[in-house]
Amino acid sequence: MRRLWSPKGKAREEGIDVTAADPSNLVGYCGLYCNACGIRQEKIKTAVNNLRDIIAHYGFDKMMSEFVQWEPSFKHYNEFDEVMDGLVQLFGDCPGCLQGGGDPNCKVRSCAKQKGYRTCAECNEAGGCEPLAPYRKGYKGLTPALQCIRENGIRSYAEGMQKKVDNGYSYVDESK
Ligand code: SF4
Ligand code: SF4
Repeated sequence: MRRLWSPKGKAREEGIDVTAADPSNLVGYCGLYCNACGIRQEKIKTAVNNLRDIIAHYGFDKMMSEFVQWEPSFKHYNEFDEVMDGLVQLFGDCPGCLQGGGDPNCKVRSCAKQKGYRTCAECNEAGGCEPLAPYRKGYKGLTPALQCIRENGIRSYAEGMQKKVDNGYSYVDESK
């Protein structure tokens, strides 16, 4: 099965250790900060594990055939359980953009790499860029992030983002 957000990732294309002290290594080509991503923060894995713990605590998983008389959807419990496994398999963790995490077919990453840019902040076409547009739309902070990288440099931007993450920030909260 193809894994998009694999903790193992594909080959370490850039030879960069994302665990190194420099948080710039966690800035994706598009300008998103990988440590602020809910997938890398293991939010889905944690939520699935929490739900499973609660279900197991009450022993509901062993009583679904009995409960189905009150709640017909419970006949699909085994499929639901498989879907939870699938969510963790595909979206349980991520090694980060520079380590091959995220969408393996990401057009932004391939375009920026082809042009020799570290991030799209270096690109004159960023304003009207089609591949970047969905990320600008999905993450309101992306346009100011690219501006910040241009004005202050990637290291300063990454350090600012890491401070926010240390205080509990996640992109998941931004889209609420
Ligand atoms: S995979 Fe694409 S969208 Fe995700 S952080 Fe990297 S460049 Fe951005
Ligand atoms: S055209 Fe420029 S802004 Fe758009 S993805 Fe490529 S490098 Fe990034």
